[in-house]
Amino acid sequence: MIEEIRRIKPRVRADIEVRLQRVNQGSMLVVRRAGGESVPLTAIGYFAFLQMDGETRLSEIEERIEHRFEGAGVDVHHLCRLIEQLQDKGLLFEDERAVRARQALEEIGILARREDSSPPSDVMQNRYNDDVSALVHAGFAALVGSEFTRAMVKFREASEAMPRSMRLARLVDVVERISLGDQRIADDPWVGIERMVEQAIDQRICPACGGQLRQTTTDAYRCEDCSGEFHK
Ligand SMILES: [Zn+2]
Repeated sequence: MIEEIRRIKPRVRADIEVRLQRVNQGSMLVVRRAGGESVPLTAIGYFAFLQMDGETRLSEIEERIEHRFEGAGVDVHHLCRLIEQLQDKGLLFEDERAVRARQALEEIGILARREDSSPPSDVMQNRYNDDVSALVHAGFAALVGSEFTRAMVKFREASEAMPRSMRLARLVDVVERISLGDQRIADDPWVGIERMVEQAIDQRICPACGGQLRQTTTDAYRCEDCSGEFHK
């Protein structure tokens, strides 16, 4: 995920106020939109904030910080956290679909796993699964970077590579529904189900019992174990 996060190019909104706010021991910088909630920034955080112009990659911002404040130890993890704080308060220019996708995924309990060391449990073990895991990470990073279409492409590739993963089917379903303007994803228990059924039929696996499907006509299939009939 980290490599993917490095390539994103956050862009701060134009209508942001920067203020010095008095606190007990002195003052600190805060940024906010008129009437909105403030995000406190450290000096280096502000230095990073100023460079979020939608053109500069996070990796370049990281390098400039290292160059300017040698040994400060500010890395992509810090920058990512800063971006999430700014996003939370609506301070970044974003694709609305990416914002909705992050919210909807959180609401249905599918969260990005940032640490490279803890990939999703259904996406582990071998090289092939590492590739799928990389696609999922790329998709989540794209959502952080507000690149909605890229996220959708990456999640689809991951789901196609691992058609029996319910988690991936749900991921794709959520972003596809958002791209179609669906407003009520979180309270729909069917998210991902149709996609799973289709993918199972593609693999000639019975979506009901897991048995073997046999094609009966052009678009009809029959399960040899449970006798279920499926159309596609
Ligand atoms: Zn069956």
